[in-house]
Amino acid sequence: MSSKYQDPSNKDVIIEAIKNSPILGKLEKIIDKYFPDWIKTSTPVFSSDYLFMEKNWKNFCAEHKTTPKRIVIVEFLSLDSDHEVIQILWDILTKMGFCVRSEDELTLCKNCRCALPTERYYRALGLSAPEKYMNVCTDCSSPNHSK
Ligand SMILES: [Zn+2]
Ligand SMILES: [Zn+2]
Repeated sequence: MSSKYQDPSNKDVIIEAIKNSPILGKLEKIIDKYFPDWIKTSTPVFSSDYLFMEKNWKNFCAEHKTTPKRIVIVEFLSLDSDHEVIQILWDILTKMGFCVRSEDELTLCKNCRCALPTERYYRALGLSAPEKYMNVCTDCSSPNHSK
């Protein structure tokens, strides 16, 4: 997995292309070409069970004078020096208003596709609400939900 996302040999050319034209359509072409499996899925909202995640994202966007776009779940993220292209893509997309997180951290509700932390991330964060981890959101798991 790590080698799949390692910087290609022409990384300087790619980084220059990314930085010279941080336009979504062009970034998508670069991602399709070099890291076609990177983006797994996306969704517009977090589960209402994790409003603090939505709030953090919105605050970040406000600080960077942009509007929230979509939550994008990717196969891999790394901060080490072999993955500079992935880091730059992450940085630019994040500042454009996308919430880019790895599939180790976020998943989607099986029913309504709102974003939820994975069980591992829920534990890593030491969350206590919702009381018990579920891979569906509370709205969908309550017996009388209206969705
Ligand atoms: Zn939901
Ligand atoms: Zn749901």
